[in-house]
Amino acid sequence: MSDLIADLRGLLDDKGVLTGEAVSERMIHVWYQRPIEALCIVRPRTTEEVAAVLALCQQHGQAVIPHGGLTGLVQGCNTTPADVVLSLERMNAVEEVDPVGRTMTVQAGVPLQVLQETAEAHGLMFPLDLGARGSCQIGGNVSTNAGGNRVIRFGMTRDNVLGLEAVLADGTVVSSLNTMIKNNAGYDLKHLFIGTEGTLGIVTRVVIRLREAPRGLSTAFAAFDSFEQLTRFLRYIDRELGGALCAFEAMWRDYYELVTTAPADNARPVPLDYPNYVLLEALTRGSAEDVAMFEDIMGRALEEGLLADAAVAQSETDRRAMWRIRDSVDQFFRFGPAFLYDVSLGIRFMDSYVTEVKQRLGAAWPEHHCFTLGHIGDGNIHFAINVGDDSAAAHARVNACVYEPLAPVGGSVSAEHGIGTEKRDYLALSRSPAEIELMRRVKQALDPSGILNPGKIFSA
Ligand code: ZN
Repeated sequence: MSDLIADLRGLLDDKGVLTGEAVSERMIHVWYQRPIEALCIVRPRTTEEVAAVLALCQQHGQAVIPHGGLTGLVQGCNTTPADVVLSLERMNAVEEVDPVGRTMTVQAGVPLQVLQETAEAHGLMFPLDLGARGSCQIGGNVSTNAGGNRVIRFGMTRDNVLGLEAVLADGTVVSSLNTMIKNNAGYDLKHLFIGTEGTLGIVTRVVIRLREAPRGLSTAFAAFDSFEQLTRFLRYIDRELGGALCAFEAMWRDYYELVTTAPADNARPVPLDYPNYVLLEALTRGSAEDVAMFEDIMGRALEEGLLADAAVAQSETDRRAMWRIRDSVDQFFRFGPAFLYDVSLGIRFMDSYVTEVKQRLGAAWPEHHCFTLGHIGDGNIHFAINVGDDSAAAHARVNACVYEPLAPVGGSVSAEHGIGTEKRDYLALSRSPAEIELMRRVKQALDPSGILNPGKIFSA
C-alpha cells in the first residue's frame, strides 16, 4: 500500500496526496460530523493528473471514490479505510464563457454558486439551483443529475449540459466538450457520465448551457382546499403564464405547520387552514404590465375556484420570506434524527400515495412525524420521517412504508438524489431486471476491474 501512495505522490505535487490526520480531519458530509476514512485523498489539478491516478489505481486494482462538495443525500461518497478518495476540489477554474453562444466551460470542482454568479455577471443565468448551491460542485451535480427548484421550466442537470470530459477507469480521457445544442452524430456519450454517480468515469470538465437572465420574477404563495384543486391550478397557471412558470413547490400542511411554528420564525403568507400549499414563481420582463398580469391571473384563479387563498409577493423581501418557508428544511430535525426521502410518481397518483404512506406509518408508529413537500410539477415528493428510532431496522421498516406503494403506480425510489448505497436494495422496485442487467453490462464494459465508486447504485 505504501508503494501505491509513494507512486501517487510521484504523479502529483506536494499538496496532491493527503494521508493520516489530513484525511481524518475532513468530514464525509457537509452536515454530518463523521471523519473520512480512506487510505489517502488525492487532489489532482489537471485532467492529465486524474488520468495518471486512475491508470495507476487500475493497475493496483485499487478502489477510487470520487468526491465533490459532499452534499449528496444517498451515501454515494461513502468510503472504507482501504479506498483512495479522488477529490476534484483543486480543479475549480471557469475556463471559458461564451456570451454569444450562451455556454460556459468549467472544471468539475467549481461550486454551483460560482457558476451562477459568473453567468449573472454576463447578464445570463445557469438555471440549475438547489439548497446546497454554496457547497456542491458542478462535477457532483453532473454525476448525480441533480434536480432542484427550476426543473419544471429548465429540466434537470442533464438538460443543461452540452458536453463534458471524463476519465475512464483505465485512464483514457474522453473529451466530448460539445458546445452545440444539436448534435446527433452517433451516441451522445455524455449521458454515460451524467447521473451515473461516478461509477463509469470521473467527470473533469463540463460545458453548460446558459439562458438569458430574467429581468424580473413574480412570486406567490397559494393555498388549496384539496390536492385535486392544486392539480387543476397547475394546469391553469402553466397555460396562463405562457411558459414562464419556473417553480411550483408544493407543501403539505404538516410541513407548512412545522416551518411556520416556533422555534421556526417564518410568518404565514396565508393561514394554516388548508391541506395543501404551493410556492410558485414566474419569469417576467420586470415591467409594471407583467406584474399586473400576474396579479390578474392569480385573481382569476381565486374567482374561478382554482385556489382557496393566495398572497402575491409585493417586494423582494416578501419573495425571500416565501422562499425561506420552502427552504427551512433544517426544521426536519426538530424532533430528532429523520429519514429523508426523494421519490417520484405520476401526479394523478400522488394524493392517494401520500395518504397510504401516512397510513402505513401511523399503523406502525402512532407517534411518528412525517413532513411532506415536493417539486410537484416534476412529480417529485420529499418526505422527512421521524419515528423516534433511527436504528437500521427502523430505517428498513420506514423504507418499506415509503417504497412499496410506489411499485403498483410505476414510481421511482429516486427522483433526484440518486441511488448511492442508501437505495441500492430498492433499485429493483423502480427498474426492471432487463434494465439492471444492461446497467451492469455498461459498468462491466467501462470499468471491468470495478474500481470506480464500487458498491454504489448496485452491489459490487
Ligand atoms: Zn428536492
